Amino acid sequence: MICENLSVNSCGHLTFAGLDCVELAAKYGTPLYVMDENRIRHNCRVYMNAMKKYFGENSACLYASKACSFKRLYEIIKEEGFGTDVVSSGEVYTALKADFDLGNAFFHSNNKTDEDIAFAIDSGIGYFVCDNIEEVYSISAIAGEKGVKQKVLLRLTPGIDPHTYEAVNTGKVDSKFGSAIETGQAFEITKTTLGLPNIDLRGFHCHIGSQIFDSEIYIRGSEIMLEFIAHVRQNLGYTAEILDLGGGYGVRYIEANPYIDIDSNIKGLADFIKRTVAQLAIPMPRICLEPGRSIVADAGLTLYTAGTVKRIPGYKNYVSIDGGMADNPRYALYGSYYTVMSALRPEAQCDMHCTLAGRCCESGDLIQENIFLPSDIKRGEIIAVLTTGAYNYSMSSNYNRLGKPAVVMIADGKDYVAVKRETLDDIIRNDV
Ligand SMILES: *Cc1c(COP(=O)(O)O)cnc(C)c1O
Repeated sequence: MICENLSVNSCGHLTFAGLDCVELAAKYGTPLYVMDENRIRHNCRVYMNAMKKYFGENSACLYASKACSFKRLYEIIKEEGFGTDVVSSGEVYTALKADFDLGNAFFHSNNKTDEDIAFAIDSGIGYFVCDNIEEVYSISAIAGEKGVKQKVLLRLTPGIDPHTYEAVNTGKVDSKFGSAIETGQAFEITKTTLGLPNIDLRGFHCHIGSQIFDSEIYIRGSEIMLEFIAHVRQNLGYTAEILDLGGGYGVRYIEANPYIDIDSNIKGLADFIKRTVAQLAIPMPRICLEPGRSIVADAGLTLYTAGTVKRIPGYKNYVSIDGGMADNPRYALYGSYYTVMSALRPEAQCDMHCTLAGRCCESGDLIQENIFLPSDIKRGEIIAVLTTGAYNYSMSSNYNRLGKPAVVMIADGKDYVAVKRETLDDIIRNDV
């Protein structure tokens, strides 16, 4: 199996974090997000241990909330010693309600509204990661009104094409995110920011992309950022305290995806950064990483119930499920790969070439094409889509007025509800 928290029990059913997926579906209904708390903690510890070991005690791990955000998740990552990235008042509020210390939170986004900025400052946000100069001015003005000096980082684009999907490619010069180093814009913004009285510039940030498997991309990104830090130090006399290198490490959705050893990747990055810092004769910055996907993706799967099985002889076979793009829009958005199997009989022969189709009124509502399932699969059979812990619940919608599924968490072999299923009354909650 693609992750060690998956197995098959004596009934021949799929198990996740030690529990029978068919029983979980019967107990809670489908569609159902299931998450493995122990796996989240394990993934956090791999990062935390490696960061402390190779970058020292003042390094920091920040969980990128957008991968999956609800109150219980903030409690878990707080217990693991993580800070967090937030991108909206909604994420700030969720973290607050989970008693998360917002002093350890970094507010991202390429377009923070004035309301977001004011709300985050009032909530005690640690840092804003400023995308552009217009935003720096807004934060400065709002911080001034409130009589505070606000800590910020500047988000820069090191101009790297990580060869991932265009739609999730954010480190290039023409990206909607950040300010480019190559064009001189980053330098100008730094200079301007340093002159603002209510802004306390603490350093620089970059996020090159997502689902990255090539460690060279991080090495190259950090090199460009360190050279920029040296350039700014020489020309403006400003020394960055923090270098935040973003998130993006890839996870295994299918067998063909490689396994990434986070510890050895971070070691390689640290070796390179220490050498480069020495060559450039700059002080070692405090290093931050912001993993999202690699903390939660393999800690989640989604259970569905099969409905119509449609065979179009000579063309295609469709297996329809009781969820779809409303709970997992990733295939519709950018053709993401997933491993799909029957939870009832994961070891059965899969001899039917088919498409797993969602229930939404949209022909693009597919979860995966070109997969194989047992040809005698029938209405009522439980189907599992693996590795859905990241960017599924957080991207879910109420399209077709479907209620969002519950999130059930498993910890030490015990299941509990972390997010309740939306009811029909929840669907009309705001209708007047
Ligand atoms: C999305 C994002 C992350 C997390 O990326 P993953 O690929 O989920 O690890 C980190 N930092 C920033 C700024 C992001 O936008």
